[in-house]
Amino acid sequence: MKRVGLAGWPVKHSRSPLIHGHWIEAHGIAARYDLLPVPPEDAAAFFADLDGAGLAGLNVTVPHKLAAARAVRVDEIGARLGSTNLLWRAADGWHGTSSDGLGFTRSLDADAPRWRDAGTALVVGAGGAAIAAADALAAAGLAVVVANRSADRAEALARQIGGRAVAWDEVPAALHGIGLLVNATTLGMDGNPALPLDLAPLPAGAIVTDLVYNPLETPLLAAARARGLAAVDGLGMLLHQASEAFERWFGVRPAVTPELRAKVVATL
Ligand code: NDP
Repeated sequence: MKRVGLAGWPVKHSRSPLIHGHWIEAHGIAARYDLLPVPPEDAAAFFADLDGAGLAGLNVTVPHKLAAARAVRVDEIGARLGSTNLLWRAADGWHGTSSDGLGFTRSLDADAPRWRDAGTALVVGAGGAAIAAADALAAAGLAVVVANRSADRAEALARQIGGRAVAWDEVPAALHGIGLLVNATTLGMDGNPALPLDLAPLPAGAIVTDLVYNPLETPLLAAARARGLAAVDGLGMLLHQASEAFERWFGVRPAVTPELRAKVVATL
C-alpha cells in the first residue's frame, strides 16, 4: 500500500483526499491519501525525514511550500519560484516541483483554449497563487501585467517574470487591451468582498478566470458572463494540478471528468 498525502497547517478543509480517493478507486491502485497536519515548528524535522513517515509522494500547502523546496531536489520551475507543492520519491531521493502553474494552464487549455493567443494577461494579486499563474503565463509567451494592493509585491513579481506592474488604482484603465484577466487575490471568496472591478473596458474577446473556487461562480465570473465573455472558474486548476501529482506518483494520468467535478462541487 503506497502512502501519499497533503502536508500543511491547517489541512482539514482540503478536497485533495476526495479527488485522489476518486482516482485511486477508479484505477484500482493500492494506495491511500492522508491529511498530514504539520505545525510550523515541526516542519524542518518533518521534511528532513519523509521516508520515516512512510511516504511515496506528497502535496504541500501553506505555510510549508518554501520549507519543502529547501528540503528536496527541485526542478527548474520549483527553483524559479523557490516553492514546491508536489514531492515524489525517486530512486535517487526526493524531488519537488510547483504544479500550480501547470494546473492553471491545463485548466485554461480545457475550458478556454484560445487563451494562448490572448496577447496580454493582467494578473491581479501577488501571493503564492499569483506567482505560479504569472510565471506560467510568461513562460507560455504572454505579456504579463501585474497589479496588487501592496504595490511592492506587484513590482517584485513583475521583475521576477519579466512583466510590468501597474498601480492598484490604475487597474480599470489597464483593462483596455487585456486578453486574459486573472483574479489571484482572495477577493470573491466566501466571506470576502468581491474584486471591485467594472469589466466594461475589456475587449469583446477577453477571457476572465478566477483562481477562487469557493464559491465556484464568483461575482467576477458572473460579471464576465453577463458581458458575454468567456469565464473559467478555479476548480479546474485544483483538479488539473492534482492530476499532475497523481501521474507523478502512480504513473498514470487520471481524467478530470464532469463526474469528479460534480463530486467536489457537492462539498463546496
Ligand atoms: P496569498 O495569501 O498568498 O495572497 C493573497 C492575495 O490576495 C495577495 O495578493 C493579497 O494582496 C490579496 N488580497 C487579500 N485581501 C485583499 C483585499 N482586501 N484587497 C485586495 N487584495 C487583497 O494567497 P494565495 O495566493 O495562496 O491564494 C489566493 C487565492 O487563490 C485564494 O482565494 C486561494 O483559494 C486561490 N487558490 C486557488 C488555487 C486553485 O487551484 N484554484 C490554488 C491556490 C490558491 P496583498 O499582497 O496586498 O496582501
